[in-house]
Amino acid sequence: MIWTSAVTLTNARVVTGEGTAESVRFASRVLAIGDPPRPGDAVVDVRGSFVLPGLVNAHDHLELNHYGRIKFRDRYGNASEWIGDMRPRLADDAAIRKAGSHPLSDRLFVGALKNVLSGVTTVAHHNPFYSELRRDMPLRVLRKYGWAHSFLLQDRAAGARGERGGDVQRRFRSTPASAPFFVHVAEGVDAAASGELERLESLGCLAPNTVLVHGVGIDAGGWRRVASARAGAVWCPASNMFLFGRTIDPSRTETNVAIGTDSRLTGSRDLLEELCVAYETSSVPPAHLLAMVTVDAAATIRQPQLGRVAVGAPADLLVIPGVAAEPGQALVATARRDVELVTIGGRPIVAHPGLAGIFNGRRTRSRPIHVDGAPKVADAALARRIDDCSIVEPGVAAR
Ligand SMILES: [Zn+2]
Repeated sequence: MIWTSAVTLTNARVVTGEGTAESVRFASRVLAIGDPPRPGDAVVDVRGSFVLPGLVNAHDHLELNHYGRIKFRDRYGNASEWIGDMRPRLADDAAIRKAGSHPLSDRLFVGALKNVLSGVTTVAHHNPFYSELRRDMPLRVLRKYGWAHSFLLQDRAAGARGERGGDVQRRFRSTPASAPFFVHVAEGVDAAASGELERLESLGCLAPNTVLVHGVGIDAGGWRRVASARAGAVWCPASNMFLFGRTIDPSRTETNVAIGTDSRLTGSRDLLEELCVAYETSSVPPAHLLAMVTVDAAATIRQPQLGRVAVGAPADLLVIPGVAAEPGQALVATARRDVELVTIGGRPIVAHPGLAGIFNGRRTRSRPIHVDGAPKVADAALARRIDDCSIVEPGVAAR
C-alpha cells in the first residue's frame, strides 16, 4: 500500500450533492465519502460540524482590500461618479497614497488572506493576473479568465501598474469560449448604468461565458435576455448597498448567479459577511445562498471540479460549526472567527485548535495565530507570511 497520509474527518455532516454523509476521507483529493477510516489514517473528530466545499468568491480585486471603505457621497447614481470622486484622491489623499505604496505582493497577499480566513479556497480576481499571483498565494486564484474593467475605464488605468481597463469587445473576442469573461456592467441605478446591457449586446459580447458583475441597473426584460443568452452574473450586495442603496434580487431571475465580495473599498469584510448581507437584502433561501458560493459559483467561473465535495475532486474543504439544522443556515450564521478548518488540495491552512491533529496527519507544519480574538492553528508558511507582510490585517495576529 502506498502511504498517502490520508485524513478521515468523522462525526461530521458532510454536505454533498447527494445529501449528507458522516465522514470524508481525503489526501490531496477526496478519496471516499461516508466510509470508515482506514488503517493508518489520521482520524479527526469534528463533533457534528458541517463539512462544506471550500467557498468560491466570484469577484474581488485582491490588491484593493487594505484601504478601508471609501466614498464621498451618501448615494451614487452609477460607478462612474464614484470613480470620478476617487481619481483625484489617488494622487492627493495622503492615506490613499500610503496604502497604494505597499509592495504589490503584500497588497495581493492581504486580499488572499481576507478570503482564505473566511473559508474561500478559490477566488476570481478581477484585474490583470499579476506575476506576483503566481507565487506565495495561500489559496487558488483563478488563472484562466478574460476580463475588461467596464465601459467606464476602457482607455483608462484600472490595474495596479496603470494597466488599462481594456476595450470590452476586443477583450471579449480574445477570451476563449471555455473561459469566463468578467466585466462590470450596469453598476448603478441611473439611465447610464441601465443602458450598458444593450451596449454589450450590440457589440456581440453577451454570450454563455460572459459574467456580468453587478447588473444593478438591469431591468426584468434585461435579465430575461441575460438568461436566454445563458450568461452568468455576480451579485455583490454589500458593495451595491454601500454605493447605491439598492441591489439585485437574484430570486427574480433565471440567470445563474454567484456571490462575490468585490474589494473592501466598497464591499464587505469577507465572503461570510457578504452572505449575511445577501441574506438580509433578498428573499433568497440559505440553501440557495450556499449554492451561490459553491457549486453555482464554480460553474460561473468554469471550474466545475470545484465547489463540491465529491470523490476525486480536490479536497478543498470548509468546516463550520453545526449551529443549525441546515448547512446554508449554519453558513449565514458563521463569522471567520468561528471557522473550524479550511483545507486546499488537502493541505490544512487554518484550523480550530481542537482539530490541530490534521496538520500532523497531513505532515505539514503549523503555528498558532489569532483571528478576531479566537485562537487558531495555521499553516506555518502562512503564519510566517502574515508576520512578514508590511500590511497588518485587522484582527489577525501571528505572534
Ligand atoms: Zn469590482
